[in-house]
Amino acid sequence: MNSKLDQPHDRGSFFKSLGTLFAGLVAEKIESTFESIGPKLLRPPGALNELAFLTACTRCDKCIQACPQSSLTRAPATSGLALGTPQLTPRTMPCFLCETLPCIAACPENALEWPKIKTENGTVKEGPEAVRIGVAHVKKSRCLTFETIARTAERCRACVDRCPYPGKAITLRIYDHSRIPHPEVIEEGCTGCGLCEFGCPTPQPGIIVRNRL
Ligand code: SF4
Ligand code: SF4
Ligand code: SF4
Repeated sequence: MNSKLDQPHDRGSFFKSLGTLFAGLVAEKIESTFESIGPKLLRPPGALNELAFLTACTRCDKCIQACPQSSLTRAPATSGLALGTPQLTPRTMPCFLCETLPCIAACPENALEWPKIKTENGTVKEGPEAVRIGVAHVKKSRCLTFETIARTAERCRACVDRCPYPGKAITLRIYDHSRIPHPEVIEEGCTGCGLCEFGCPTPQPGIIVRNRL
């Protein structure tokens, strides 16, 4: 019995759709490979999404050199395909959200773009307040305001005091029997600058910035 694929036109369509499927699978594979090494890194302000960023960034170091705070470093050899791309490690040095964002201005490839976002209430923010490097997370096992088996809870608000947007990106809230206020990140307003992580007095930070996924 003749299969539909015996007809040249249908065979062509079949191979075309197979090709499309294959191309789709390859693209998906490349994307997942990039994602498996990329999103763990925190990027400079205004960075494109990870796949686009890895494609656009030529590893020219211009953003790294433009940063007056030395906040950006080159990703190490363990970063795979991201080797040599700019990254932020807030515990070592956070982003100070310079008013003019010179790192972005220095990028000749537009791998970093002037940040502009629309908030949930419809207002548009741009510049430093619109930076979304990542989002801070409180680690209860390390944050001094939480009781653990090893310690009693104590008052601390270093992260809130360091935050450039207190009340918008992070706040203090009492919500358990300890009656001690705990830091609570407001994800929508958090820039991921890492000033909170940098300023936390515990040996292992009680608040850390993770990639926004
Ligand atoms: S905003 Fe300023 S501190 Fe932050 S990475 Fe850019 S140049 Fe460095
Ligand atoms: S600075 Fe660290 S220990 Fe202090 S409240 Fe913030 S996360 Fe907790
Ligand atoms: S909560 Fe932390 S990471 Fe978020 S804006 Fe404030 S200081 Fe920056």
